[in-house]
Amino acid sequence: MNQAEGPKAPVFDTVAFIGIGLIGASLSLALKRHGLARRTLAMSRRQETLDTAMRLGIVDAVSTDIGEVVKDADLVMICVPVGVCGDVVAAAAPFLKAGAIVSDVGSVKCAVIRDVKPHLPAGVAFVPGHPLAGTEFSGPEAGFAELFDGRWTVLTPLPETPAEAVDKVAAMWRAVGSNVDGMDPEHHDQVLAITSHLPHLIAYTIVGTAADLATDIKQEVIKYSASGFRDFTRIAASDPVMWRDIFLNNREAVLGILQRFTEDLTAMQRAIRRGEGDTLEEHFARTRAIRRGIIDARQA
Ligand code: NAP
Repeated sequence: MNQAEGPKAPVFDTVAFIGIGLIGASLSLALKRHGLARRTLAMSRRQETLDTAMRLGIVDAVSTDIGEVVKDADLVMICVPVGVCGDVVAAAAPFLKAGAIVSDVGSVKCAVIRDVKPHLPAGVAFVPGHPLAGTEFSGPEAGFAELFDGRWTVLTPLPETPAEAVDKVAAMWRAVGSNVDGMDPEHHDQVLAITSHLPHLIAYTIVGTAADLATDIKQEVIKYSASGFRDFTRIAASDPVMWRDIFLNNREAVLGILQRFTEDLTAMQRAIRRGEGDTLEEHFARTRAIRRGIIDARQA
C-alpha cells in the first residue's frame, strides 16, 4: 500500500475513540493527516481529557456519553487500559450500529478478547489489534501523528471475524505508516511477554531498587545515570495503571518468561562468582548480535 503523505479516500466515514490518550490521540491525528476518516469522535472518563482533545484539534467532537459517540461510528477504536476494555464495550454495545467494526489497541490480546467478545452484538465485527509503538508519556497531549511510522501493528482476529473487516482495519494501519502482521492471540501474548512486558518489569524493579538505596548513593545514581541507568528510568516512567493492567492480564505468559529469565540470571551470577570470563564474553557477543539484527530491521 502507498504510505506517502497526503489525502486518500476515507477508509471510514466516522471513527469513534473510546479513550483518547497517547495511542487514541495519535491514531486520530494520523487518520486526519492522511484523510482516512471523514469525522473522528471521542469519549473519555474525564471532561478535562476531552477538552484537551478538542483544544488540540485531535478529534471533531467529544462527549462523556458513550452512546452518543459510538451510535454513528463505522469503526469504534477501544484505546483504554486493558483492564477496562470489557466494561467500556459492555456500555457501548447497545448503541453500536449494525455493520460497525470494533477494534482495540490493547497491549494484551487473550484477556481483551475474553472480556470484550461476550458483549458484542451480532452483526458487529471485532478485530483485536496492538500497535507496537508508544512512548513513556500519556494523555492526548502526548499524541502525535507519526507515532506508527515504520512500526508494526499486530492483528489477532477471531475465527469468526469477517475477512473484509480485518482487511479494512489492516488497510487503515498501513495507511498511517504501520506494517501489519497477523498472529494468534496466545502467540502475541507470549512474544510481547519477552519483548515488552519483561523489560518493563526489569526496569520497574531496577529503578525501585535504586530508589530504596541510602540517600547519598541515590544522589550519585542520578548524577551518573548516563552510564546505563537512565535508559531504565525512561521505561520505568511508563503509565502505572496501563502497566498494572498488562501484568495482571498477561499473568501466565509473564510468569513463564520470568521463570526462564531468573534461571538465566542465576547462570550469569554463577559465571561471575566462578570467574568464568569466557562464558560472560560468549554471552555478551551473542546479545550484541541481537542488537545488530534490530538495527538492520530498522526497529532501533
Ligand atoms: P493513556 O494515554 O493513559 O490514555 C488512556 C485513555 O483511556 C484516557 O483517555 C483515559 O481517560 C481513558 N480511560 C481510562 N479508563 C477509562 C474508563 N474506565 N472509561 C473510559 N475511558 C477510560 O493510555 P495509552 O498509552 O493511550 O494506552 C491505551 C491503550 O493502548 C492501553 O490498552 C495500552 O495497553 C495500549 N498501548 C499503549 C502503548 C503505549 O506505549 N502507551 C503502546 C501500545 C498499546 P481519562 O484521561 O479521561 O481518565
